Amino acid sequence: MADLEPSRLRERLIQLTRDLVLIESTDDRADERARCFQLIRNHLDEVPGLEIQMLEKNGYETLLALPRGIETPQVLLCGHLDVVKHIVPGSYQSTVEDGRIYGPGAGDMKGQLAIMIELIRHFGRISPDLSLGLAITSDEERGGESGVKFLVEEYGLRAGVAIIPDGGSLNDVTVEEKGILHAKVIASGEAAHAARPWLGANALERLMVSLQNIREAFDSFYPDPDGPDAVDPEDTNTHWFPTCSVTILATSNDSPNRIPGEAEATIDIRFIPPFTSGEMLAKVEGLLSDGVRVEKIVAAEPTHLDPKPLFLEITEEVTGAPARLVKACGGSDGRFFREEGVPVLLSRPRVGNLHGRDEWIEIDSMLSYFEICRRYLERVLGEETR
Ligand SMILES: [Zn+2]
Repeated sequence: MADLEPSRLRERLIQLTRDLVLIESTDDRADERARCFQLIRNHLDEVPGLEIQMLEKNGYETLLALPRGIETPQVLLCGHLDVVKHIVPGSYQSTVEDGRIYGPGAGDMKGQLAIMIELIRHFGRISPDLSLGLAITSDEERGGESGVKFLVEEYGLRAGVAIIPDGGSLNDVTVEEKGILHAKVIASGEAAHAARPWLGANALERLMVSLQNIREAFDSFYPDPDGPDAVDPEDTNTHWFPTCSVTILATSNDSPNRIPGEAEATIDIRFIPPFTSGEMLAKVEGLLSDGVRVEKIVAAEPTHLDPKPLFLEITEEVTGAPARLVKACGGSDGRFFREEGVPVLLSRPRVGNLHGRDEWIEIDSMLSYFEICRRYLERVLGEETR
């Protein structure tokens, strides 16, 4: 078990994370995503009894590694290797400072990939028959449709439980995620010369009125800032109410003296149970003025992740502090597993500045997270190997 000697594991995790950060595995670089998969395969190839398959959907690859003869692992480790785009040249580099690894994707989630790879290698060496799998997708940042959604819905992958270290924190295990509704609000009017507005109907102004109605309706969900439920920016558990943001505003008009006949906005609604995406869409519909309609782009219902009590116990055992169940405003790939009833464990090492060039992951917490997973896997899977 020399590989688990803490200083050696620490060095391996740092090295592998930094190697992964160097690769510009963004949405527009399929070649770099392929290179990232190759680097990961180089580390997995030597694991005894592990069968690696590369799957593909819409140009996005997925790596699925399962022990020979096992189709439905008892535990599946799941992550993504795609990272967000930075246009500044030389962004994809890393530094180690103050006990953290800094660099694009360090915390979302190349540091976690390194941990998962080391877990697979560790268990592959001591008990290769363990029912433990690994899935790595490459489209999470654009929605997961060709990654985890494909894997679960089309490929038919199931698992006893999925560990996805892409949300929460070391002691924060996500229990609920808000639902998502992306929709277009589309206004039609009648184009006219702007000097004679009475001859037309201004689609942009119609749109503005409807967006204002939507704004006011969603503002009423905000808790009283002086009340007991006031929002604390540091605590997501105080953000548990529906929100709506206008994210894109567009018109095809490019002339300063023409009243636009068409205009549209994109809105991003996040909502909590018992609301459904259908109810949110109906709510928006009821707030629109004449000549304005709403069209759904994508929707996902709020998700309860069903975290396992044993994982919470082990988190406390390793960190010396209790695990907290947290509610998340954002969605994760976990929802696709939940639709098939697979419980999801969503916590991770301490990370920060996600999607920034100075994104980071704390090294000590990587070791703690590794140890939490190692003990959990040993206890959940241990029985069958003895
Ligand atoms: Zn992520």
